[in-house]
Amino acid sequence: MRKENATKRALKMYHAYNPKYFPLSFLLIVFESLSPYFNLWMSSEIITALYEGREKRELYLLVLITLLGNFLLQGFEAALGRSVRTALEALRNNETVAFYQKTLSLDYDKMEDPEIRQLRRRIHENKAINSYGVEHMRYNVEAVLRWSINIIFSVVLLAEMFSRITKVPFHWLSLGLFAAMIAFSVVTVIFQYRGGKRISDVWRGASDLMMRENQILSGIWNVYGMDNRIYRQQDIIDPMREKMSREHLEVFSKVNKKNFFLTRPQVAASRLSEMCTYLIICFYCTLGVFPVGSIIKYIGYLGRMTRSIGNLFFVRNNLRNNEQFLETYLEFFDIKNDMYQGSLAVEKRSDKKFDIEFKNVSFRYAGSEEDALKNISLSLKVGERLAVVGKNGSGKTTFIKLLCRLYDPSEGEIRMNDFNIRKYDYRQYLDIFSVVFQDYNLLAVPLGNNVASGAVWDREKAERVLDEVGFGKRYEEMPKGLETPLYKNFDEDGVNISGGEAQKIALARALYRDAPFIILDEPTAALDPVAEAEIYARFNEIVGDKTAIYISHRLSSCRFCDKIAVFDNGRIVQVGTHEELLADEKGVYSELWHAQAQYYT
Ligand code: ADP
Repeated sequence: MRKENATKRALKMYHAYNPKYFPLSFLLIVFESLSPYFNLWMSSEIITALYEGREKRELYLLVLITLLGNFLLQGFEAALGRSVRTALEALRNNETVAFYQKTLSLDYDKMEDPEIRQLRRRIHENKAINSYGVEHMRYNVEAVLRWSINIIFSVVLLAEMFSRITKVPFHWLSLGLFAAMIAFSVVTVIFQYRGGKRISDVWRGASDLMMRENQILSGIWNVYGMDNRIYRQQDIIDPMREKMSREHLEVFSKVNKKNFFLTRPQVAASRLSEMCTYLIICFYCTLGVFPVGSIIKYIGYLGRMTRSIGNLFFVRNNLRNNEQFLETYLEFFDIKNDMYQGSLAVEKRSDKKFDIEFKNVSFRYAGSEEDALKNISLSLKVGERLAVVGKNGSGKTTFIKLLCRLYDPSEGEIRMNDFNIRKYDYRQYLDIFSVVFQDYNLLAVPLGNNVASGAVWDREKAERVLDEVGFGKRYEEMPKGLETPLYKNFDEDGVNISGGEAQKIALARALYRDAPFIILDEPTAALDPVAEAEIYARFNEIVGDKTAIYISHRLSSCRFCDKIAVFDNGRIVQVGTHEELLADEKGVYSELWHAQAQYYT
């Protein structure tokens, strides 16, 4: 039952992406289907007229009607075809947008969930390989319409043939032939149905393999960087690829073989049914029941009818094969966000008085065996500068992500000005933070858009922050100033920037936002020592009266902070000023400090 629903549900969604598309496409299919019937009809009329030796004027008129009819039909088809293509383009565009909007609306932990990432990748791959999913559905639903319309046209037009037959005395031979034709048609349909089912099972197996293969290949095909050259990664990749190609060919030759043997009886029965059709029509022609020209149209109509019935079964199977891909597609749209959405408005405070308190906070990543943060308690008052230090993997970034509500704590709570941060309106809450994450992301759009993180920018402010982070000189070299696109992805005039320059822009973006909190996670990791020293020298100026949290491996740069929290294995093991922490000679801070100090002393 669930399976039937996938196509229906996906079709409804797809239709909503552009409600104009299917009506237009339906009209086009009607016109396209009309054309061969019209021509069969007219040809048969012309042949009968010739055979009966009718007047030339009548003949010319028939030819003229044929030409005019074709001209009109093709004109309609061409005009409709254009509208259909435009509507399809808009539909596809809206479908892509809906997919990305769904992605962006997901809770951050959902976006990071490996299963959900896999789901998204599978949808992309299914689409890229064989347009499986919504595109395949569209194509086959249109095919269902096309063949159904053909069947309706055939039945309606064949009514004339049957009415002629009923007017002549009953004939055993014709009855026998009709019975044989119907029997062979039924056999064709049965084989088509049963064979189709078995073929679709084989296909299902093959597409599973194809999906797995593509996941692996898309992973390894993209390896073409420097490592690949130096370490000859090709030597690892090539045998894998060869093995996969062999498996691929084996499965496909199996599918083709099965396909061949399963379709033979159906093809034979269908040919026999067609033969009976020819015999019936010729038989009645010899009796003089049908005009000579009718042979063409009746054979044509009957042929189109049997072929359309066959095709209808074929596309029905295609739709069934596509169900699994649609289920994947719908599964993604069915993902529900479960992060609590608060509604409390965040006060707009000119004094920036936002105090934060972590109360016994623990956090475990989905699928992880161990807590990444264990029982963290820490408070941060307005205007304070907190440095967070610790070894790799000690939980520093996780601490920041929890503060920014990218995740909710598994235990304990984080409070801001006496309310759990979950209670605040999420958008407004996020607006109080300017963050430079380690894996920050700049877009291939103009520098101004990146700095202002918006469609418009305040030139003076943007230039000031760029100067503050030490990007001033490079900025002067930018050919179009703030209008200069970053990277060359979309624009040949774009400029490529180094890792250090990108980090400065990311810093400038955080400053431009001018939020009450500034959070810097290893903000100078990609900078050269001179640039780094410059940033530190200006740190107080940069932070101003904001509350600041600063993560760094370079302990000397934390000295000016009011408070240093030392993380170790998910816990806060020490809190204090530089001097206080250093006084504890057995402490982690002292260990870290001396490990670094040996390079300076
Ligand atoms: P730090 O910033 O101090 O280097 P993190 O906060 O990044 O440390 O990581 C703390 C712990 O959580 C590490 O053991 C890390 O492997 C784990 N971790 C980090 N991110 C994820 C994630 N998305 N899923 C599962 N575990 C994670």
